[in-house]
Amino acid sequence: MSRPILLAVDDDVSVLEAVVQDLRRQYGETYRIMRAASGQAALDTLSQLKTHDEPVALLVSDQRMPGMSGVEMLERARDLYPEARRVLLTAYADTEAAIRAINSARIHYYLNKPWDPPEEKLYPVLTDLLEDWQAGYRPVFEGLRVIGHRWSLKDHRVRNFLSRNHVPYRWFDVAAGPEAPKLLEERQLDPDKLPVVLFADGTVLVDPDPEDLAGRVGLRVQAAQDFYDLVVVGAGPAGLAAAVYGASEGLRTLVIEPEAPGGQAGSSSRIENYLGFPSGVTGAELGRRAHAQASRFGAEFVTQRATGMRIDGQYRFVQLADGREVSSHCVLLAPGVQYRKLDIPGAERLAGRGIYYGAALVEAKACKDEEVDIVGGANSAGQAALHFAKYATKVTMLVRGEGLSATMSKYLIDEISHTSNIVVEARTQVIEAVGEEHLTALKLLRPSGEAEVPASSLFVFIGAAPVTTWLPPCILRDDKGFLLAGSDLRRDGKLPEVWHEKREPFLLESSVPGVFVAGDVRSGSVKRVASAVGEGSIAVQFVHQYLAGF
Ligand SMILES: Cc1cc2nc3c(=O)[nH]c(=O)nc-3n(C[C@H](O)[C@H](O)[C@H](O)COP(=O)(O)OP(=O)(O)OC[C@H]3O[C@@H](n4cnc5c(N)ncnc54)[C@H](O)[C@@H]3O)c2cc1C
Repeated sequence: MSRPILLAVDDDVSVLEAVVQDLRRQYGETYRIMRAASGQAALDTLSQLKTHDEPVALLVSDQRMPGMSGVEMLERARDLYPEARRVLLTAYADTEAAIRAINSARIHYYLNKPWDPPEEKLYPVLTDLLEDWQAGYRPVFEGLRVIGHRWSLKDHRVRNFLSRNHVPYRWFDVAAGPEAPKLLEERQLDPDKLPVVLFADGTVLVDPDPEDLAGRVGLRVQAAQDFYDLVVVGAGPAGLAAAVYGASEGLRTLVIEPEAPGGQAGSSSRIENYLGFPSGVTGAELGRRAHAQASRFGAEFVTQRATGMRIDGQYRFVQLADGREVSSHCVLLAPGVQYRKLDIPGAERLAGRGIYYGAALVEAKACKDEEVDIVGGANSAGQAALHFAKYATKVTMLVRGEGLSATMSKYLIDEISHTSNIVVEARTQVIEAVGEEHLTALKLLRPSGEAEVPASSLFVFIGAAPVTTWLPPCILRDDKGFLLAGSDLRRDGKLPEVWHEKREPFLLESSVPGVFVAGDVRSGSVKRVASAVGEGSIAVQFVHQYLAGF
């Protein structure tokens, strides 16, 4: 497989030469540097590369070029290489056009010319963008292979786990060609026991549970110590922020997360309203970066689910799915919320077999050239629709209300209305999922009456609810299961009986001293990435205050 390509585009020969030289000097060993002297020449080059399946990582284009502007070229290049990072080179006077292009052409960055010294003005930005691209890049390789059935929940879980943990793999659908049956036969594996994971060293895992798989792909499943200053449950934005602040401020910090850093945000295709990312950031990318940042400060992560908690004097013990437990003085509960399930006939049986909950990223490519249905009308559904529209021929949004305006941010509504293969069906309810082995049709209730329409993939985004039943009763919650903290613990002006301290609970402290709550799981919290990050960070301040009282 050849090296991924960086393509520089400029009609000014001397500027083009300067860009190419700078790119070659820094990235020449890992990437192939190519050039084009006009927008059209760049598109022609990209078309040719596409026919040979060559990977393109980055496009750097000048804005002012005769015939076709940089913005236009980058916009058209999206059809060929949607994942390539797009950078616009502009004169200072064109800055406004560049900012507009963040929306229209979805450019990832604009750089003002000149970019000297490149060590300060060019390389940090490009290296960052290339790291993002690398994280999603799946080269053809002889590494890990997954053989399964597209319409199997277990198969979906394995692929979801690997994708979200940025573990590259190749997937073989047993029903889609001779390759998978041949691989199974060669290794004398039972085709009825799937999914199977084949490792490069020849070893095999049959129908693995997440922990076995985590251990084999190099993720830690056991805590290195018995005792920590702070145990964080959940590595969504709230837990990750607490891990970064906790570890950077010297607390021995352990993070427990069964899936992958990023939380719900990790399943979101693009978060566009998080501060500091003008062209948006995928939740998975935010999770990957925060995980790296927290790890750099010394936070430890284990791939485990917290299944219980007990309190013994000043010690808090968190029980893990493998039966072990870890102890600490402080715990931060940040397990977020989980997608609400569709409560209609057929939905439970067909989950993972055509009905998916928040699985936009892992399933999108499997839906290439197919039609996709989405239930829900809020931002999460809108983001998913835009993501699927890149792969599917048609995306139908099934919305119970009058339309999207009451439930979705304007920037998403605008983008959806400009995407020709997304259709919004308002005042439409899904009332039954039909299919034996997998989803084949949906029964809909439309204003015109009931109808059955063919369907193979339905993605559900109808809100979320907390899963807090694993916590002991002394951790108080509201009537919907969200955890109470700080002044919300008071009822009729009184603190609850379980609270025995003389002091007031700290702002994010639960009904058990030293156990804190942050993010979506907290009763009354704002369900946003930024507020989860804020709460996770603030909670660490109260952890310090609590520990200072010992
Ligand atoms: C599709 C989608 C799109 C979104 N888009 C945006 C957006 O554009 N902008 C925005 O601001 N917000 C957005 N949100 C909301 C945002 O993602 C959440 O508000 C935010 O992720 C909450 O962070 P959190 O850390 O509280 O919880 P979560 O992100 O839910 O993370 C909780 C983590 O805890 C883990 N966990 C759960 N139970 C356990 C357990 N028992 N043991 C250990 N770990 C456990 C979970 O696996 C998960 O990783 C979106 C949400 C969705 C679903």
